[in-house]
Amino acid sequence: MRASVSAALLLAAVLFVSGCASMPSTLSGAGASDAPARTAVAAAAAADDNLNAVLWVQRSAEYQANTISLFRAAIDQLDEALATPDWDALVPAERTQTAPLAGLAPAVIMDIDETVLDNSPYQARLVANGEEYDEVTWAAWVEERKARPVPGVLEFARAAQASGVTILYLSNRAQHLQEATLANLHAVGMPVKDESVFLGLGTHVEGCEQHGSEKLCRRRLAGRDYRVLMQFGDQLGDFVEVIANSTQARAALLDAHRDWFGERWWMLANPTYGSWEPALFNNAWSEPRPARRETKREALDIAP
Ligand SMILES: [Mg+2]
Repeated sequence: MRASVSAALLLAAVLFVSGCASMPSTLSGAGASDAPARTAVAAAAAADDNLNAVLWVQRSAEYQANTISLFRAAIDQLDEALATPDWDALVPAERTQTAPLAGLAPAVIMDIDETVLDNSPYQARLVANGEEYDEVTWAAWVEERKARPVPGVLEFARAAQASGVTILYLSNRAQHLQEATLANLHAVGMPVKDESVFLGLGTHVEGCEQHGSEKLCRRRLAGRDYRVLMQFGDQLGDFVEVIANSTQARAALLDAHRDWFGERWWMLANPTYGSWEPALFNNAWSEPRPARRETKREALDIAP
């Protein structure tokens, strides 16, 4: 992946983003010494919706304080969760285990991306290059195995491990990325008991049919062997099944489970991407980027 962006690359990015077939006359033949062209290109590149969000994650003390606070609060909750025999972080509809919970080994379920591992360098590359997520560039980033831990997560992992709590990684990273993912987790100091703790996209779950990237079946699988003390994620779907991805349905789910947040469920802030965003444009990823952007602008709450 390129570490720096040339003027020519930025020009290509602008054309990609705008979907424009013709080149503006001021940019025609732009070279490295064409200052007006560079200014125009830079201005256009800076219009990426994710610029501030990625910078907040990468450069603000506030983001780090936020995640450190969350994991510290979760550590403080761990003893009570362990000591309470019927404590369960799976919603009843997702628990198929009928034996007493007290007989099961304790575990926590953690999503990986933007929960345990910080992929903001990948997001930064997309912003710098005027690109959007795709599976090829994502897989290449994962194979680099360079993601850093989210601030505070290692302290939580150490506390969990010291209390005999297994960490399960329930992720929508594909199964073929398992080796790179576990190597990255291990390299940053996260406990990896064995390969069974990776519940990636495509994990077969007997008697449960997975729909898309929905995690319900894999949560049920975890519940067969473990008493799930806590769940950690950066998406609502990391915790409970999201049947309809609309802003209203998501708000209703939040209301239904409000009491569990900060107790059994721990939500990491992720302003850079997530299902909340397509919910704003009716999940219409097939729409051109400018059209999606315009629909998002219409969602701004400007009421006094
Ligand atoms: Mg995630």
